[in-house]
This record gives sequence, structure tokens and C-alpha cells, in this order.
Amino acid sequence: MNYPHLLEPITIGTTTLRNRVVMGSMHTGLEDAFWNLPKLAAYFAERAKGGAGLIVTGGYSPNIRGHLKPLGSTMSNSLHAARHRLVTDAVHEHDGRIALQILHAGRYGYTPYSVSASNRKSPITPFRPTALSTKGVDRTATDFARSARLAQKAGYDGIEIMGSEGYLINQFLAARTNDRTDKWGGSAQKRMLFPLEIVRRTRELVGPDFLIGYRISLLDLVEGGQTWEETVELAKLLEAAGVDLLNTGIGWHEARVPTIITQVPPGAWRDYTARLKPEVDIAVCASNRINTPEMAESILAEGGADLVSMARPFLADPELVNKAAAGRADEINTCIACNQACLDHIFSNKMSSCLVNPRACRETTLILGPTRSRKRVAVVGAGPAGLSAAVSAAERGFATTLFEKSASLGGQFRLAMEVPGKEDFRETLRFYTRRLEVLGVDVRLSTEATADALAGFDEVIVSTGVTPRIPSFPGVDHAKVVRYDQVLDGSVQVGRRVAVIGAGGIGVDVSHFLTHSEGDLDDWMAHWGVGDPSLHRGGLTEKKPRTSPREVWLLQRKTTAIGRGLAKTSGWAHRAVLKDSGVHLVPGVSYDRVDDAGLHITVTSTSGGVTHEVLEVDHVVLCAGQESVRGLYDDLAGTDSVADGLHLIGGADIAAELDAKRAIAQGTRTVAAL
Ligand code: NAP
Ligand code: SF4
Repeated sequence: MNYPHLLEPITIGTTTLRNRVVMGSMHTGLEDAFWNLPKLAAYFAERAKGGAGLIVTGGYSPNIRGHLKPLGSTMSNSLHAARHRLVTDAVHEHDGRIALQILHAGRYGYTPYSVSASNRKSPITPFRPTALSTKGVDRTATDFARSARLAQKAGYDGIEIMGSEGYLINQFLAARTNDRTDKWGGSAQKRMLFPLEIVRRTRELVGPDFLIGYRISLLDLVEGGQTWEETVELAKLLEAAGVDLLNTGIGWHEARVPTIITQVPPGAWRDYTARLKPEVDIAVCASNRINTPEMAESILAEGGADLVSMARPFLADPELVNKAAAGRADEINTCIACNQACLDHIFSNKMSSCLVNPRACRETTLILGPTRSRKRVAVVGAGPAGLSAAVSAAERGFATTLFEKSASLGGQFRLAMEVPGKEDFRETLRFYTRRLEVLGVDVRLSTEATADALAGFDEVIVSTGVTPRIPSFPGVDHAKVVRYDQVLDGSVQVGRRVAVIGAGGIGVDVSHFLTHSEGDLDDWMAHWGVGDPSLHRGGLTEKKPRTSPREVWLLQRKTTAIGRGLAKTSGWAHRAVLKDSGVHLVPGVSYDRVDDAGLHITVTSTSGGVTHEVLEVDHVVLCAGQESVRGLYDDLAGTDSVADGLHLIGGADIAAELDAKRAIAQGTRTVAAL
């Protein structure tokens, strides 16, 4: 049997799950408006059909003051409950189980009416919360319980109380945010009263046969967070109060330690769950940065948890569990922890999706329906856009041929996976390579598609990608000057002193590549200042300095702060690594020339001061963006043979701000419209 521990049923309280895979809570944006409930139902139904043992919804507030954003998702009256029947029925139709997550945002609420344990403002939201009155806290605990009862009426199999990630419950638990002198604060035990009352009142209202889960924060990763002993005490008291299942969370949102992005080593937090498990008798679920069935199985096999939660991996592949069970794990579209289409969207108030699966949260609108057409489809170029188009075309049933000029698949993605911390990007290439094989796509590597070779095809999708932009300044052809692709693919080895021109995503990645030194998980934790929570409150300690094998200058022409345009949920971590690695960040640069002495620059400061400098570097790496490669497209557009069925996608279409998210989505959408 494949994954025997993962696929073994489990009974929690009185609820039996068909396996130990939890689709963890993930806000998608579909929760926030009732008219999107049919889409939410379709989204969950696909995941239930795909085998998830237990699905946990995105967070629903128990009352208005707990909103994540104005008019955000709420479960506070019987109309809400009635509408949710659609969702629970859709999951039950596929023998799945589903729990509603109840989340009160507290001071993380992006609303002027947010409340918290105190009026201390969070560093990541603009609004100062109002401190709840003593009665207000009491009412809020009752609202949680009522919300749970409504979820029960809506047909949910259980609830999960969100007690981690820095939301209201954490704000009560930590002295950092709770300076109350009434019965809800003052000592660690009094600060625990709020979650315990929530659980006690919930159990009273829902009875013994309804699953109560609680997401507990194992490591707060903020100053003034809880100690390990307090966390264990809370876990035991929660169990006594009526919790059936402890899911585990790591880090408040305001923590300055990354917990789930690509650069976090997979499985980084599993040992903390394993440390909690023997302390309680109820089921414990591991979570955070677990993205493969192999990792999940090994956690269970070692006895480190009773269940494993994966949230984003279910956006990437709804069929994750069924594929694992059928011995087709090599066909799983693995989540690469990029956050680009899920959390970055949510934090920008946009609907979630997934970079590697553009159909996520678009189940009812982006449909790759089977075709009866006998059309022949050619895709030219096997970067992310072309791979997505070729696989989508074959999935629809078109006879598909994929041409690739080089000897391997992947295009720019092949470079990205060389960046330290982006190793997971290899999984996407593995997925596409295997899918092309399974779907029987005619893949022609080392083959340049010519207009003649394409003449017999009905649809030609050109995804010939990009070429690095070569800026024009004196000495750009000097031997010291190299391109980023040559550095990342290892065809040139750069010296100890390096200037990087262009501070977009690739300039930042290249700077990281050049300054990174190998280390294990302990080193990673030490560099981010993660310590033993028994010794250090919140699990935070002094950061261990990073040592860089090179001295690097990262330069840009704009006078704005370097790295400002990076992604919302990961950009801060990339900037921190560069700073800790000693990279010199220099905005306001104009490039005068390169000669044997190095790179000559003029720097204009924000105050208007001008200085001239020579950076005595061994190499200058160009990361100045890209330009589209579309010679073939222009040739084909000028002929009659395929003009009607000619499509241009990916970087060949628009090179500016090209990213894999847009490329993959465009490949899929183009084929869906054929
Ligand atoms: P990019 O984001 O467009 O950045 C290129 C930088 O080069 C620009 O910021 C620009 O800054 C500079 N530049 C442009 N023309 C120049 C010229 N003629 N001379 C000198 N400098 C010039 O492109 P990229 O870094 O190649 O990244 C491509 C895409 O890949 C990005 O849009 C991003 O979405 C994606 N990506 C993302 C990540 C990530 O999120 N971690 C990582 C890698 C790639 P100045 O004009 O101010 O100098
Ligand atoms: Fe995972 Fe990236 Fe997809 Fe989010 S967008 S689910 S992080 S692959």
C-alpha cells in the first residue's frame, strides 16, 4: 500500500476521517461574498473528490468586529448558516468532511472598527484597535460558540478555532498585546482564560459529537510571545475544555521570520509538533511548509503527528491524495511555496489562485473541457507558458506537438531553480515532464520550429520566451560583464567582488545566489534567530551573522529603496537576507563605463547629491530585464498558412514584468479558448 500511515483512517472524537490528510485553512477571497458560495462549493468539491480527509475552510469571523476586512467573511446568523449548506453538501457528496474555521482578526482586522485585548496597534495594519471591555470579551467568547453552533446547523462536521498566526486569541495569550488588569489578563493563566472560555462554551452548545479543532501557536516568533511551557499548559487545558484536535501554527503574521515561503526548508517546523504530541492525548496535526506526500508520510511514520495539514498544496493539485494513493505521486503538481498567486493575492485584496494551477478558485470559469476536434496543435517553446499550453492542449484531447530549441524543458524556470531556496521549482518541471509523457505529447527537443515545419498544424501557440536585455553603456562588452543566465546556469564562475546591474526579482535572486553559503536546518534557524522556546520567549533569540563568500553591490537606476517592488509576503524576507549577507544596496545609479579598473558609476542620492565611484569588481552581472523573442511569430504572422490559428503567449508576448504566474495562466487560458 502506498503511504500506509497517511492513508489510514482516523477517528477524532466521534468523527471518522478516511485518511490523515487535512486540507488546511486558506483564505481564497471566495469566502467574502455570498454570491461566490457556488464557486467556493465547486472549489471544495474538487478537493473532496481528490481525496482530502478533512477540509478546513478559510477563516470566518464570529462577529462584525472580528472582520479581516470590511464586509469580510462572517458566520454570525442563521441566513449565513443556510447559505453554507451548498458548501457542506458539495463536500459530503464526495464523502469528504469539512470544518469551518472561526477566526477573529483582532488587531489584524483591516478595518477602523477592529478590537483587541489592548489598544496596541499592530505593525502590519494601519488601524489602532479598541480595547475590548470586560463584558465585550465575554460576549466575544459567546459569539465564537454561537458561530460554531451555526456551522453545525450548516452541515459542517466540525470547526477549527483559529488560535495562532497572531490573531485575536494570540493577542489575548501574549503579554506583548495583553496588558489587561481584569480577569482576562495579568498572568499567563489569566491570559489563557479567553480561548478556554471559547472552547468550554462551544462544547456546551454543540454537544459531544461535533469536532472541535483548535489551531495552537507552537512558536510565536515575536518578542513577548509565549514560552514553550505556557504553550504546553494551554494545550492540556484546551484538551480538558473539550478540544478534539490540535492543529499547529507557527509565527504571528507580524513575525520577521519567514515560516512558509520557498526559502524555508521543507518540513522545517515538524519537530515542534512532535514535541507537543506526547503532552496531550488528543490528535495533533502537523502543518506549515509540508508539500509532498513523502514528507507527510515520514512525519506520521516517525510518530511526530496524527495528521498532516497541507493548505497551498491543495490549491496546486486538488487530486493530491488520490494520485498518491494510486501510485501516481510523480504526477502531483507540487506547491512551490512561492505565494505569488495565493497569499500575495489575498494580501492585495485579490482573489486567490495558484501559480502552477491557474484553475484554482476558477473551477467554474476556467474549464479545460474535452474536445472532439481533430485539430493539430503545435506549441513552440517549452518554458512555463509553453509547458502549460502543451499540457492543457493534450488534456483537452488535441493532438499536441511541443517544439523546444534547446535540449531541455523549462526555459527561465530552469534558471530560477538554481537559486538557493528555490529548489522546489524543480518539482514543477518534474510535473510537466511527467504529464507530457503520460498525455503522449510529441515532444521535440533540440528542434527549432520553422514556418515550414509548422505548416500542417491548425493551431500554433508561440511561446518562444525572452532574452536578457543588454543595456548600452561603454564597456558593456568588456570581459568582466556577464549575463545572469550564464551565472545561474554555471557557464561562468564569477570572482569575489561582483556588481549586479538591475535590482528586480532576478537581480535580487542573483545577489542571493552569489552571497549564499551552504548550511543545514540548524544554520537556517540560527540565521533567522529562532531559538528554543523553553529558553527564549516566543522562540526568538539573537540572529547568527551570515558569512558571504563574496562582496556584492546590487544597483538600480531608480532612486526608490531597493527591493520595493518585490512580492508582498516574501519581499521583506529577501530584503532581510540581502542586508544580513552584507550586500551593498545602491539606488540612484547611472552606469558610466566598465574597464579593467571595474564599474564606473555616478550615484545621485535622494537629496540630490552626486558622487562618482569606481567599484573595483571582478565581474558585472547584467540583470536588466528581458526582451521578447518573437522572430518566429512575426514570420508566421506574415504567412497565410497558420495565421488564423496563431497565438502568442508568455514572455514572447510581453517581456516586461514577465513572471511564471502570468505565463502559465496565459498558456492555460489560450488553450481553454481554442
Ligand atoms: P525586472 O523586474 O523588470 O527588473 C529589471 C531591472 O533592471 C529593473 O528593475 C530596472 O531597474 C533595470 N533595468 C531595466 N532596463 C535597464 C537598462 N537598460 N539598463 C540598466 N538597468 C535596467 O526584471 P527581472 O529582474 O529580470 O525579473 C523578471 C521577472 O521575473 C520579474 O518581473 C519578476 O516577476 C520575476 N521574478 C520574480 C522573482 C521574485 O519575486 N522573487 C524572482 C525572479 C524573477 P532600474 O531601471 O531602476 O535600474
Ligand atoms: Fe503554492 Fe505558489 Fe500555488 Fe500558492 S501560488 S499554492 S505558494 S504554488
